[in-house]
Amino acid sequence: MNDINKPTKTLNSAPKPNLWGFVIVAVILIGASTYTYLRFTSITARIDLLQSSVLSLANNLSSTTAQLQSAINETHSSLANALNAQQQNVGVVQQQLSNYQSQVGNLSGTLSNIQKLAQIDPQLLVKYSKAYFLNENYVPAHLANIPDAYEYSSKKQLLFLTQALPRLEAMIDAATSSGVTLYVDSAYRSFAEQKALKGDYTVIYGAGTANSFSADQGYSEHQLGTAVDVIGPGLGGALDDRFDGTAAYRWMVANAYRYGFVLSYPKNNSYYVYEPWHWRYVGIRLATDLHNQGKNFYDLDQRTIDTYLINLFD
Ligand SMILES: [Zn+2]
Repeated sequence: MNDINKPTKTLNSAPKPNLWGFVIVAVILIGASTYTYLRFTSITARIDLLQSSVLSLANNLSSTTAQLQSAINETHSSLANALNAQQQNVGVVQQQLSNYQSQVGNLSGTLSNIQKLAQIDPQLLVKYSKAYFLNENYVPAHLANIPDAYEYSSKKQLLFLTQALPRLEAMIDAATSSGVTLYVDSAYRSFAEQKALKGDYTVIYGAGTANSFSADQGYSEHQLGTAVDVIGPGLGGALDDRFDGTAAYRWMVANAYRYGFVLSYPKNNSYYVYEPWHWRYVGIRLATDLHNQGKNFYDLDQRTIDTYLINLFD
C-alpha cells in the first residue's frame, strides 16, 4: 500500500518543478516554432518575390526577344528591299549600257556603211535611156584595160571599170569552162566616142534609124564603164538580134547574174530597142534578185535600185 501511496506523494510533491519545465519547454517550443514560422514565411515571401522577379525578367526577356526579332525582321526586310532596289538599279543601268552599246554598234555600222557608200559612184546604178541623162563630162573614176584574151578584136584596146573588171573576166572564164565562147566586142565609150559613133550610124542609116539603136551621146550606159557588148563566134562580128539564137546568149541569160551582169534592154522593153548583146554590171546582189524575181533592171524604180548601191562590188 505504501507503494500505492508513494506515487501520490510523489505527484503531490513534484508538480512545481515539472510545470516550470513544461512551461519553459513550451515557451522554447513556441518561440522556436514562431521563429521557424516567421523564417519560413519570410523565405516563402522571398521565394514569391524571386518568382515574381523571375517571371518579370522572363516577361522582359520575351518582350525584348520579340522586339529584337521584330527589329531583325524589319532590318532584314529593309535590307532586302534596299538590295532589291539596288539590283533593279543595276538592271536598269545594265539595260542602259546595253542600249548604248547597241546604239554605238549601230552608229559604227552606219558610219562604216556611210564610208563604204562614199567610195561608190552612185551614177553606176542610175538608169540611163532616152529619159535619163548622163552628163557629157562624166568619166568613170578608174578604168582598166580588158586583157586581149577576152576581146573579140585586138585592134582596139577596150576599157572597163577597174573594180568590176574581175567579175567580167570571171564570167568569160566560166563560159569558157562550160565550152561556150564569149568575147567582149565593146566596153567603155567616152562621150566623144559615143557622139562619133552616133554620127557614123546617122550617116549610114539616117537619123531616125540611128536613134533607135544607138543611144544619143550622153545617154549611153557605155559611158559608165560598166556596160559591155558581147559576141560569140558565127555571126561574122556583127552585133544583131541573131545573137539571142547562140549558145553564148543562152549561157549569159542563165549565168550572167552570178557575176553581177544583167541584160539592159530585153525584148519588148519600153525604154530602148532590144539589145541581146548589151549587158551591164549592176552587182551580184541586184542581178541575182532581178534574176530570181524575173524582173528587168529598168523595171525597178530608182529608189529601189539605189538600196543596192552599197553592195555594188560585194
Ligand atoms: Zn551596148
